[in-house]
Amino acid sequence: MPTFPGMPEPLFSCSPSRLDNWRSCPRKYRMTYLDSPSPSKGPPWAHNTMGAAVHNAMRDWYALPLEGRTTDSIASLARAHWRADGFRDEQQSFEALGRAIAWLQSYVADLNPDEEPRGVERTVSVTTERLSLQGRVDRIDQRGDELVIVDYKTGRSHLTDDDAATSLALAIYALAATRTLRMPCFQVELHHLPSGETLGHRHTSESLARHLGRADSIGQEAQVAQREFKAGRVKTEEIDQVFPPTPSKLCGYCDFLEHCPEGSASSQRAVSWVAIEDR
Ligand code: SF4
Repeated sequence: MPTFPGMPEPLFSCSPSRLDNWRSCPRKYRMTYLDSPSPSKGPPWAHNTMGAAVHNAMRDWYALPLEGRTTDSIASLARAHWRADGFRDEQQSFEALGRAIAWLQSYVADLNPDEEPRGVERTVSVTTERLSLQGRVDRIDQRGDELVIVDYKTGRSHLTDDDAATSLALAIYALAATRTLRMPCFQVELHHLPSGETLGHRHTSESLARHLGRADSIGQEAQVAQREFKAGRVKTEEIDQVFPPTPSKLCGYCDFLEHCPEGSASSQRAVSWVAIEDR
């Protein structure tokens, strides 16, 4: 959208994952959101396939009438959403499906059937002076007079309450749920399905404000870089200063590793099923 002198800058529309992408590697951000045509991506990841099937099964399970929400129906939904993308072979995919069904059945068996969520895959939004932040929350529960953010996790890594406390996305979801559903929200939770653990944190108004301030400053950096890039004001020789590569141990999992000399020098592409082995 063109702007003219004296016009306020339009709000920068973004999601927590987009901010995370900028924070973790601005070059990856450029290749993910700005380059046209988009650079080709590496092969699909088995852990993403597994995570998507689990999330979709949980979403559709809550769409069933109360009497249909059983351990059998969650297994059927997991099978219906299952894909083989990223797995080594059919056997590995089949075994992973069995594990996903076991996690889901154990998880839903412990849920209180009388607790109807306030939202499932609900889009919520909040604005700052500079940003219009939107995100889709896996589940929003209501406990008493407050909302609770629930984020499903399917990775094998061990999570702690600190992961819930430091998550920018969860804090933004809490603020956005408060605004969208007009009810206070301070509690945020990671529900780790493989272990059955719940990792939680109760925010205060101050800690939420700190997260929002952090989001605002990350968003401002991304907004300025994106605006200059889209306006054609970033010269070819300046691109790596505006969107610097940030090599790390995560480069092996980057979809754009083959397009990135610095990432390729620091890491080899991980095999697409490595993150689901030994789970
Ligand atoms: S390979 Fe690493 S440094 Fe390169 S774009 Fe991806 S995350 Fe960034």
